[in-house]
Amino acid sequence: MCNNLTTEEYIRLEDEYGATTYKPLDIVIEKARGVWVYDLEGKKYLDCLSGFSSVNLGHCHPELVKTLKNQAEQVTQTSRAFRNVHLPLFFKEIAEFTGKNRVLPMNTGAEAVETAIKLARKWAYAVKGIENGRAEIIVCENNFHGRTTTIVSFSSEPSYKDNFKPLTPGFRTIPYGDAKALKNAIAPDTCAFLVEPVQGEGGVVVPPEGYLKEARKVCRENNILFMLDEIQTGFGRTGKIFAHHHENVEPDVLIVGKSLSGGMYPVSAVLADSPVMDVFKPGEHGSTFAGNPLACAVARESMRILKEEKLAENAAELGDYFMEKLKTLKNSHINQVRGKGLFLGIVLDEPARPYCEELQELGVLCKETRSNIIRISPPLTINREQIDFIYDCLERVFAGQGKE
Ligand SMILES: *Cc1c(COP(=O)(O)O)cnc(C)c1O
Repeated sequence: MCNNLTTEEYIRLEDEYGATTYKPLDIVIEKARGVWVYDLEGKKYLDCLSGFSSVNLGHCHPELVKTLKNQAEQVTQTSRAFRNVHLPLFFKEIAEFTGKNRVLPMNTGAEAVETAIKLARKWAYAVKGIENGRAEIIVCENNFHGRTTTIVSFSSEPSYKDNFKPLTPGFRTIPYGDAKALKNAIAPDTCAFLVEPVQGEGGVVVPPEGYLKEARKVCRENNILFMLDEIQTGFGRTGKIFAHHHENVEPDVLIVGKSLSGGMYPVSAVLADSPVMDVFKPGEHGSTFAGNPLACAVARESMRILKEEKLAENAAELGDYFMEKLKTLKNSHINQVRGKGLFLGIVLDEPARPYCEELQELGVLCKETRSNIIRISPPLTINREQIDFIYDCLERVFAGQGKE
């Protein structure tokens, strides 16, 4: 492999050959360690995006790297046509980690959401007795669950779906954070409610306290599956291992991805208890790479590190510390600061992109969310001094001193 290009050359090449589905900041990352990423000139930046909350353990965690390397030399891919030595232990460990007793491994978040949708529909016909073809799933406005054609069908973001019709039917949309709306939307053909505990891509939207508990209750009373998408909120991000632990509720179906692997490799999973998960029969679902030994080894190690280093606890403590500081930021363009744990958002009354570009110059990497929100979600290994550094940069940018 030969890659001795300049920053400008890398950017030009990417823009010349790549499909234009993203509009990245013009930083070319060459390496990363912990909370820091480094560009070609060796300048370092504090990563406040963490690969969209997938790098919760910090970049290139030495023990995770070691696990990946060792497993790469042992065996990487077997397919589920055969068994392997990591899959059963991954199943057992993630079951204990989540409190669910059956596991369906996939690769990406969107695939896991698709899997949960199939599971809910099969359950609707096999268990609930809904007429085949009529099952309906309730979802929330402003949701983000991925980019496949079925998932964008129930997005409320026009740019995600308007040019990709025909859309998949079978979804009904209600306002987020409103348990009464859920109750009112339930019909005889409703089989499930799919929701994020905190809306991430929607702009770090925290629902009213008690919402999950109330929604859980409504689902139970109406015999519909309560399905939580914890792909972005899981693995310590909000200050608990899973965001639903804040309200002590148990989902029927739990969807995880992103930092399940510490960002080292794409690993996702759907978890449920036996009566629900057992509706799937051999041949009804699958994926070439799902459950491969490399993925399982990395995910096992990542869960171990998260617990051993008490990263959810760190996210809770430092998230509170950070939030208190953010509340003291003074600028007439700031409408609100909100969030939970180390999942924070600064809501502006104007585009956030120029602020992100100024932060980049000062050595902090943020990416705007929903055009007017600066999302801050650093690796959970961050310390107070590093949070002070981010805060000082924010203060300078908001004081109009970002550019020197
Ligand atoms: C990122 C995300 C997804 C999609 O995951 P991919 O790995 O990008 O397919 C789904 N749901 C939520 C809540 C997410 O944040």
